[in-house]
Amino acid sequence: MPTETETGPLTQCLICQKMPTIKAHLLPEAFVRQIFHYPKADEQHVIHHPDTGQKVQSGTGRFDRAILCAKCDNVLGRYEDSAFRLINRLRTVPIGTKCGTENLVKTGTYPFRVPVVNEFIRFACGVLWKYASTPLESPGHIDIGNCKALFENICFHGADIPESVDALIERDLFSFAAFKDPSQVYYYCTPSVGRRGERAPKRMAWFSVGGFTIYLKLDEPGLPDYAPKKCWMRGRKQCFFNATMRSLFVNQGIHSSIGLTHDDLARLNRSLKKK
Ligand SMILES: [Zn+2]
Repeated sequence: MPTETETGPLTQCLICQKMPTIKAHLLPEAFVRQIFHYPKADEQHVIHHPDTGQKVQSGTGRFDRAILCAKCDNVLGRYEDSAFRLINRLRTVPIGTKCGTENLVKTGTYPFRVPVVNEFIRFACGVLWKYASTPLESPGHIDIGNCKALFENICFHGADIPESVDALIERDLFSFAAFKDPSQVYYYCTPSVGRRGERAPKRMAWFSVGGFTIYLKLDEPGLPDYAPKKCWMRGRKQCFFNATMRSLFVNQGIHSSIGLTHDDLARLNRSLKKK
Protein backbone atom coordinates (compact mmCIF):
# COMPACT_ATOMS: atom_id res chain seq x y z
CA MET A 1 0.00 0.00 0.00
CA PRO A 2 1.18 3.55 -0.67
CA THR A 3 2.53 5.24 2.43
CA GLU A 4 2.51 8.83 3.57
CA THR A 5 5.81 10.74 3.32
CA GLU A 6 6.92 14.23 4.24
CA THR A 7 6.29 15.38 0.69
CA GLY A 8 2.74 14.06 0.61
CA PRO A 9 1.06 10.74 -0.06
CA LEU A 10 2.86 8.30 -2.36
CA THR A 11 0.44 7.49 -5.12
CA GLN A 12 0.22 4.92 -7.86
CA CYS A 13 0.03 5.78 -11.54
CA LEU A 14 -3.60 5.43 -12.62
CA ILE A 15 -2.51 3.62 -15.80
CA CYS A 16 0.29 1.19 -14.84
CA GLN A 17 -0.07 1.24 -11.01
CA LYS A 18 3.67 1.92 -10.63
CA MET A 19 5.20 4.43 -8.24
CA PRO A 20 6.24 7.16 -8.05
CA THR A 21 3.91 9.50 -9.87
CA ILE A 22 5.18 12.83 -11.17
CA LYS A 23 3.90 16.38 -11.47
CA ALA A 24 1.85 15.86 -14.63
CA HIS A 25 0.79 19.10 -16.31
CA LEU A 26 -2.92 19.11 -17.06
CA LEU A 27 -2.49 21.35 -20.08
CA PRO A 28 0.85 20.84 -21.82
CA GLU A 29 3.43 23.21 -20.36
CA ALA A 30 4.44 24.44 -23.84
CA PHE A 31 0.96 25.85 -24.46
CA VAL A 32 0.92 27.56 -21.08
CA ARG A 33 4.37 29.11 -21.46
CA GLN A 34 3.55 30.67 -24.81
CA ILE A 35 0.76 32.91 -23.49
CA PHE A 36 3.21 35.64 -22.51
CA HIS A 37 3.24 38.66 -24.76
CA TYR A 38 6.95 38.32 -25.36
CA PRO A 39 9.61 36.09 -23.83
CA LYS A 40 10.07 36.97 -20.19
CA ALA A 41 11.75 34.06 -18.50
CA ASP A 42 10.69 34.93 -14.97
CA GLU A 43 7.11 36.05 -15.55
CA GLN A 44 4.32 34.30 -13.69
CA HIS A 45 0.63 34.29 -14.40
CA VAL A 46 -2.56 34.02 -12.40
CA ILE A 47 -5.07 31.23 -12.91
CA HIS A 48 -8.58 32.43 -12.18
CA HIS A 49 -11.51 30.08 -11.53
CA PRO A 50 -14.63 32.21 -12.08
CA ASP A 51 -16.95 29.59 -10.50
CA THR A 52 -15.25 29.73 -7.10
CA GLY A 53 -13.45 33.07 -7.30
CA GLN A 54 -10.23 31.18 -6.53
CA LYS A 55 -6.97 32.68 -7.82
CA VAL A 56 -3.73 30.70 -8.04
CA GLN A 57 -0.27 31.96 -8.94
CA SER A 58 1.49 29.86 -11.52
CA GLY A 59 4.54 29.65 -13.75
CA THR A 60 3.69 26.69 -15.92
CA GLY A 61 0.00 26.04 -15.35
CA ARG A 62 -1.71 23.51 -13.09
CA PHE A 63 -0.43 20.00 -12.55
CA ASP A 64 -1.53 16.97 -10.60
CA ARG A 65 0.95 14.84 -8.64
CA ALA A 66 -1.22 11.79 -8.26
CA ILE A 67 -2.30 10.64 -11.71
CA LEU A 68 0.64 9.55 -13.88
CA CYS A 69 4.17 8.15 -13.69
CA ALA A 70 6.85 9.61 -15.97
CA LYS A 71 6.59 6.79 -18.51
CA CYS A 72 2.82 7.09 -18.94
CA ASP A 73 2.96 10.91 -18.99
CA ASN A 74 5.48 10.61 -21.84
CA VAL A 75 2.92 8.68 -23.88
CA LEU A 76 0.69 11.75 -23.81
CA GLY A 77 3.75 13.97 -24.30
CA ARG A 78 4.22 12.67 -27.83
CA TYR A 79 0.65 13.64 -28.81
CA GLU A 80 1.08 16.96 -27.07
CA ASP A 81 4.29 17.79 -28.98
CA SER A 82 2.67 17.10 -32.32
CA ALA A 83 -0.47 19.12 -31.39
CA PHE A 84 1.72 22.02 -30.26
CA ARG A 85 3.57 22.07 -33.58
CA LEU A 86 0.33 21.84 -35.55
CA ILE A 87 -1.45 24.63 -33.64
CA ASN A 88 1.58 26.93 -33.94
CA ARG A 89 1.67 26.34 -37.69
CA LEU A 90 -2.06 26.98 -38.10
CA ARG A 91 -1.92 30.20 -36.09
CA THR A 92 0.21 31.72 -38.87
CA VAL A 93 -2.50 31.02 -41.50
CA PRO A 94 -3.92 34.47 -42.37
CA ILE A 95 -7.64 34.64 -41.59
CA GLY A 96 -8.00 38.38 -41.98
CA THR A 97 -6.26 41.69 -41.56
CA LYS A 98 -5.65 43.98 -38.65
CA CYS A 99 -5.26 47.71 -38.94
CA GLY A 100 -5.12 49.57 -35.63
CA THR A 101 -8.14 48.40 -33.68
CA GLU A 102 -10.00 47.35 -36.85
CA ASN A 103 -10.15 43.60 -37.52
CA LEU A 104 -11.36 42.25 -40.82
CA VAL A 105 -11.90 38.50 -40.54
CA LYS A 106 -12.75 36.21 -43.43
CA THR A 107 -14.98 33.61 -41.82
CA GLY A 108 -15.23 30.13 -43.29
CA THR A 109 -13.08 27.01 -43.39
CA TYR A 110 -9.32 26.84 -43.95
CA PRO A 111 -7.57 23.69 -45.22
CA PHE A 112 -4.55 22.06 -43.58
CA ARG A 113 -2.88 18.65 -43.54
CA VAL A 114 -1.97 16.56 -40.53
CA PRO A 115 1.03 14.20 -40.63
CA VAL A 116 -0.69 11.36 -38.74
CA VAL A 117 -4.44 10.66 -38.97
CA ASN A 118 -6.28 10.95 -35.60
CA GLU A 119 -3.16 11.93 -33.63
CA PHE A 120 -4.69 15.29 -32.78
CA ILE A 121 -7.86 13.59 -31.49
CA ARG A 122 -5.69 11.46 -29.20
CA PHE A 123 -4.09 14.64 -27.86
CA ALA A 124 -7.53 16.16 -27.11
CA CYS A 125 -8.70 12.91 -25.44
CA GLY A 126 -5.55 12.98 -23.29
CA VAL A 127 -6.17 16.52 -22.01
CA LEU A 128 -9.76 15.62 -21.10
CA TRP A 129 -8.68 12.37 -19.46
CA LYS A 130 -6.25 14.31 -17.24
CA TYR A 131 -8.85 16.87 -16.10
CA ALA A 132 -11.39 14.08 -15.53
CA SER A 133 -8.79 12.23 -13.41
CA THR A 134 -8.16 15.09 -10.98
CA PRO A 135 -9.92 14.93 -7.58
CA LEU A 136 -13.59 15.95 -7.57
CA GLU A 137 -12.85 19.03 -5.46
CA SER A 138 -10.05 20.21 -7.77
CA PRO A 139 -10.97 23.54 -9.48
CA GLY A 140 -10.58 22.33 -13.09
CA HIS A 141 -12.16 18.88 -12.58
CA ILE A 142 -14.64 17.78 -15.27
CA ASP A 143 -17.07 14.88 -15.38
CA ILE A 144 -17.06 13.09 -18.75
CA GLY A 145 -18.73 9.88 -17.52
CA ASN A 146 -17.85 6.72 -19.43
CA CYS A 147 -15.63 8.72 -21.79
CA LYS A 148 -12.90 8.63 -19.17
CA ALA A 149 -12.40 4.88 -19.65
CA LEU A 150 -12.81 5.20 -23.42
CA PHE A 151 -10.23 8.00 -23.65
CA GLU A 152 -7.85 6.03 -21.44
CA ASN A 153 -7.96 3.20 -23.99
CA ILE A 154 -7.48 5.64 -26.87
CA CYS A 155 -4.54 7.46 -25.29
CA PHE A 156 -2.65 4.78 -23.40
CA HIS A 157 -3.58 1.50 -25.10
CA GLY A 158 -3.75 2.53 -28.77
CA ALA A 159 -7.50 1.89 -29.20
CA ASP A 160 -9.11 3.08 -32.44
CA ILE A 161 -11.14 6.28 -32.40
CA PRO A 162 -14.79 5.18 -32.62
CA GLU A 163 -17.23 7.01 -34.89
CA SER A 164 -18.87 8.43 -31.74
CA VAL A 165 -15.73 10.44 -30.90
CA ASP A 166 -14.54 13.24 -33.16
CA ALA A 167 -12.77 16.59 -32.89
CA LEU A 168 -12.75 19.94 -34.64
CA ILE A 169 -10.75 23.09 -34.18
CA GLU A 170 -11.88 26.66 -34.46
CA ARG A 171 -9.68 29.76 -34.67
CA ASP A 172 -10.33 31.83 -31.58
CA LEU A 173 -11.14 35.28 -32.97
CA PHE A 174 -11.08 36.82 -29.49
CA SER A 175 -7.43 35.81 -29.34
CA PHE A 176 -6.85 36.88 -32.97
CA ALA A 177 -8.23 40.35 -32.25
CA ALA A 178 -5.96 40.87 -29.25
CA PHE A 179 -2.57 40.89 -30.98
CA LYS A 180 -1.09 42.09 -34.22
CA ASP A 181 1.50 39.34 -34.37
CA PRO A 182 -0.14 35.95 -35.03
CA SER A 183 2.61 34.19 -33.13
CA GLN A 184 1.37 35.77 -29.90
CA VAL A 185 -1.16 34.00 -27.73
CA TYR A 186 -3.52 35.83 -25.40
CA TYR A 187 -4.73 33.20 -22.92
CA TYR A 188 -5.71 29.56 -22.47
CA CYS A 189 -8.90 28.08 -21.12
CA THR A 190 -9.34 24.74 -19.33
CA PRO A 191 -12.04 22.26 -20.46
CA SER A 192 -15.78 22.82 -20.22
CA VAL A 193 -18.51 20.28 -20.96
CA GLY A 194 -21.95 20.90 -22.44
CA ARG A 195 -24.29 20.31 -25.37
CA ARG A 196 -23.52 22.13 -28.59
CA GLY A 197 -25.41 22.33 -31.91
CA GLU A 198 -28.78 23.74 -32.97
CA ARG A 199 -31.17 21.04 -34.18
CA ALA A 200 -29.52 17.92 -32.79
CA PRO A 201 -27.07 19.06 -30.10
CA LYS A 202 -24.40 16.62 -28.97
CA ARG A 203 -22.47 16.38 -25.74
CA MET A 204 -19.09 17.98 -26.27
CA ALA A 205 -16.08 19.22 -24.34
CA TRP A 206 -13.96 22.19 -25.39
CA PHE A 207 -10.82 23.99 -24.29
CA SER A 208 -8.67 26.77 -25.75
CA VAL A 209 -4.93 26.75 -26.33
CA GLY A 210 -2.62 28.43 -28.82
CA GLY A 211 -5.28 30.75 -30.24
CA PHE A 212 -7.66 27.89 -31.10
CA THR A 213 -10.64 26.28 -29.39
CA ILE A 214 -10.63 22.50 -29.57
CA TYR A 215 -13.99 20.70 -29.50
CA LEU A 216 -14.33 17.00 -28.81
CA LYS A 217 -17.55 15.02 -29.27
CA LEU A 218 -18.15 12.87 -26.19
CA ASP A 219 -19.13 9.42 -27.42
CA GLU A 220 -22.44 10.16 -29.18
CA PRO A 221 -23.43 8.93 -32.63
CA GLY A 222 -23.80 11.43 -35.47
CA LEU A 223 -22.32 14.88 -35.93
CA PRO A 224 -23.89 18.04 -34.47
CA ASP A 225 -24.67 20.95 -36.81
CA TYR A 226 -22.11 23.02 -34.95
CA ALA A 227 -19.58 23.43 -37.78
CA PRO A 228 -19.32 22.37 -41.43
CA LYS A 229 -19.07 18.57 -41.69
CA LYS A 230 -15.62 18.68 -43.27
CA CYS A 231 -14.19 20.27 -40.09
CA TRP A 232 -14.55 17.00 -38.15
CA MET A 233 -11.05 15.51 -38.14
CA ARG A 234 -11.60 11.79 -37.50
CA GLY A 235 -10.03 9.62 -40.23
CA ARG A 236 -8.75 12.61 -42.25
CA LYS A 237 -5.32 13.71 -43.32
CA GLN A 238 -6.73 16.64 -45.26
CA CYS A 239 -8.51 18.69 -42.60
CA PHE A 240 -10.17 22.09 -42.23
CA PHE A 241 -10.31 24.49 -39.32
CA ASN A 242 -13.29 26.77 -38.79
CA ALA A 243 -13.31 30.55 -38.41
CA THR A 244 -16.60 31.91 -37.13
CA MET A 245 -17.67 35.03 -35.25
CA ARG A 246 -19.23 32.77 -32.63
CA SER A 247 -15.76 32.12 -31.24
CA LEU A 248 -15.70 35.69 -29.90
CA PHE A 249 -18.25 34.68 -27.27
CA VAL A 250 -17.06 31.18 -26.33
CA ASN A 251 -14.50 32.48 -23.85
CA GLN A 252 -15.91 35.90 -23.07
CA GLY A 253 -15.65 35.11 -19.33
CA ILE A 254 -11.89 35.54 -19.85
CA HIS A 255 -12.42 39.25 -20.30
CA SER A 256 -13.80 39.72 -16.79
CA SER A 257 -11.22 37.27 -15.40
CA ILE A 258 -8.43 39.42 -16.81
CA GLY A 259 -9.96 42.48 -15.14
CA LEU A 260 -10.34 40.63 -11.82
CA THR A 261 -6.78 39.29 -11.78
CA HIS A 262 -5.03 42.39 -13.15
CA ASP A 263 -3.96 43.75 -9.75
CA ASP A 264 -2.82 40.34 -8.43
CA LEU A 265 -0.73 39.81 -11.55
CA ALA A 266 0.89 43.24 -11.34
CA ARG A 267 1.75 42.62 -7.66
CA LEU A 268 3.14 39.17 -8.42
CA ASN A 269 5.40 40.42 -11.20
CA ARG A 270 6.55 43.42 -9.16
CA SER A 271 7.60 41.07 -6.37
CA LEU A 272 9.54 38.94 -8.86
CA LYS A 273 11.42 41.96 -10.19
CA LYS A 274 12.57 42.90 -6.68
CA LYS A 275 14.24 39.51 -6.17
ZN1 LIG B 1 2.37 4.71 -15.37
